[in-house]
Amino acid sequence: MIDPAGATMSPPRIALVTGAGRGIGAATARLLAECGYDVAINYARHGSAAEGVAADVRARGRRALLVRADVADEAAVVAMFEAVDRGLGRLSALVNNAGIVDMKARLDEMSSARLKRMLDVNVLGTLLCSREAVRRMSTLHGGSGGAIVNLSSIAATLGAPGMYVDYAASKGAIDTFTLGLGRELALEGVRVNAVRPGIIDTEIHADSGDAARAHKSAAVIPMERPGTALEVAQAIAWLLSDEASYVTGSVLTVSGGR
Ligand code: NAP
Repeated sequence: MIDPAGATMSPPRIALVTGAGRGIGAATARLLAECGYDVAINYARHGSAAEGVAADVRARGRRALLVRADVADEAAVVAMFEAVDRGLGRLSALVNNAGIVDMKARLDEMSSARLKRMLDVNVLGTLLCSREAVRRMSTLHGGSGGAIVNLSSIAATLGAPGMYVDYAASKGAIDTFTLGLGRELALEGVRVNAVRPGIIDTEIHADSGDAARAHKSAAVIPMERPGTALEVAQAIAWLLSDEASYVTGSVLTVSGGR
């Protein structure tokens, strides 16, 4: 791209953050705007919260696009990526952040509907969004490269017994997927990594039945405090950046030492 003065300008960087209406996704959308990205903000249920994040992106001088889609719904995911193509342009970064937990329970208490939804949102959603991103970013498809960051969890390494083994298993799948896709795309200009947060102070804990869980868990964290959404967002932004140009197929733990 050439500016009117004839100097070379780099093309705009365009990111899609799923589940960006609150928590880690919202902090990531805001931080990426500060880093110079135009940001597509995906949400599922809470449009007004997502609108607030879009306003924050615009206040940082970047373009924002709100896109409603359930990441577990293939048709909705395909339509979301098409909306980003039309609304912002060629995608260069994807953050697969949308994710769910469920009430604290043992496996022998879990319904198949719960198990199916957990895997559909946390695993299938990440795979579908990544597929659409690869079709746009990979040099094999005529793209000019990009980067993907997936949200794993420290639960993938602990198993979360008596809490939510279904969630832990879904995040284990994310670790394996990150390794495989990173290697699959290594020669196609697309880096794929994950962050593995420990206990982060967001609203997700209310969905497991204990809104105060993050602060109550301080004793099991070597740093004796939960992390913040911004601390995870900073790791995501680094993995997306050119500073991480030799990093792919990796999972970066952000857990206060847990
Ligand atoms: P959060 O505050 O509950 O936010 C999750 C976001 O995901 C919400 O904005 C929600 O949007 C969206 N979402 C849920 N289901 C969706 C769907 N089917 N389609 C599209 N969006 C959907 O969670 P968080 O704590 O920020 O967590 C973000 C990610 O980090 C998740 O993948 C989580 O597993 C992971 N993580 C979190 C922690 C932690 O301690 N907080 C630790 C490890 C890993 P709506 O509100 O619009 O539905």
